[in-house]
Amino acid sequence: MGRAFVYVILGGGVAAGYAALEFARRGGYSRGELCIISEEAVAPYERPALSKGYLLPEGAARLPGFHTCVGANDELLTPKWYKEQGIELVLGTKVISADVRRKTLLTGTGETISYKTLIIATGARALKLQEFGIQGSDASNICYLRNIDDADKLVTAVILKDGRHLPADMVVVGIGIRANTSLFEGQLMMSTENGGIKVNGQLQTSDSSVYAVGDVAAFPIKLFDDDIRRLEHVDSARRTGRHAVASILDPSKTRDIDYLPFFYSRVFTLSWQFYGDNVGEVVHFGDFTSSSPRFGAYWVNKGRIAGAFLEGGSREEYEAISIAVRREAVVTDMGELEKQGLALAIQESQKEVPDSGLAVVGKPTYAWHATAGVIAAVSIAAIGYWYGRKRRRW
Ligand SMILES: Cc1cc2nc3c(=O)[nH]c(=O)nc-3n(C[C@H](O)[C@H](O)[C@H](O)COP(=O)(O)OP(=O)(O)OC[C@H]3O[C@@H](n4cnc5c(N)ncnc54)[C@H](O)[C@@H]3O)c2cc1C
Repeated sequence: MGRAFVYVILGGGVAAGYAALEFARRGGYSRGELCIISEEAVAPYERPALSKGYLLPEGAARLPGFHTCVGANDELLTPKWYKEQGIELVLGTKVISADVRRKTLLTGTGETISYKTLIIATGARALKLQEFGIQGSDASNICYLRNIDDADKLVTAVILKDGRHLPADMVVVGIGIRANTSLFEGQLMMSTENGGIKVNGQLQTSDSSVYAVGDVAAFPIKLFDDDIRRLEHVDSARRTGRHAVASILDPSKTRDIDYLPFFYSRVFTLSWQFYGDNVGEVVHFGDFTSSSPRFGAYWVNKGRIAGAFLEGGSREEYEAISIAVRREAVVTDMGELEKQGLALAIQESQKEVPDSGLAVVGKPTYAWHATAGVIAAVSIAAIGYWYGRKRRRW
């Protein structure tokens, strides 16, 4: 038993949804030539909503309201949309093995699905406590939050390594994720440092008919001298998903991706954005004490801004810090930088710069974001118990 497609997107998460949108916009396929295979029973959705709007005590977000690509204010890709676009959704279907040489995938139901071009978008899985040698971590009141089926439950106490018991109604453990690479280990080149599938600037793996995007992909960051990074943030999943499709359908016109690493999030009344890399010396600035704090930090590496974080900024201010990082603004005096704080980024953003190709590429969408691990986990508490009821963004 088997089916054949020209294009297969393996995984039905954020990157898959944005890749599908790009296919539809470019129209580079015929009805029935493209499919998404996903272990999940529902069409791709904006995963960050799971720790935010989905947990609201009142007026919680529910599908179809947060299918991709609502997070970037693009079209809402409902199952009906996929049908109209002639994109087949093979849902509730786990791929259990892959044969890159033969270009086939074997599903848990015993079906062989073949492809000409494969986009791997398998994302990542939440690390389990037992992977850190903690006993009993499969207890029914311990839950993990990665997909829509995961439920939130309570833990009554936490015992630390030093034996201390901390009573709690609920404990949020943010211990990170691991990229879902196992189907391709031994077949595609991996990035040993980043634990992902290594791709080039076109998101192409060591096999030219296979691409990898989103959390599972380790790709070169031009701004970091082509250092290979695997990012675990939704914006990167959205952009790499789309870029891979552009590379596949229009290789001669698609340049290597030039991505400025970026994430955003919110917890309680705090909301922030981060750009670049957290390397070098840190300089803090701003007001930590007022009822509506606005503070941040720069990371300065070799006399240049390498990263910037800002809490409580306006749209223009976030854009300013992104520009300062993208341009790697020069820092001559650390004391002065601390004194100037945000003003430095604003001045930098207002400078006339000849078109050097250094303008902000891939300007982020202004929703609120988090890192996939600790930050996302803390957001659960935020949404469930207090602040979340005020806002509904993905
Ligand atoms: C609760 C939560 C909150 C988050 N909040 C934020 C945030 O605020 N800001 C931010 O920047 N990032 C956030 N993230 C991270 C962000 O959601 C991820 O970076 C993004 O989802 C990655 O997209 P992806 O498509 O690579 O992977 P995913 O969205 O994880 O999708 C992977 C898909 O592949 C499928 N799959 C995997 N293996 C197989 C297989 N063998 N067969 C079939 N299907 C398979 C999975 O079922 C899933 O559908 C959050 C993540 C979580 C879990």
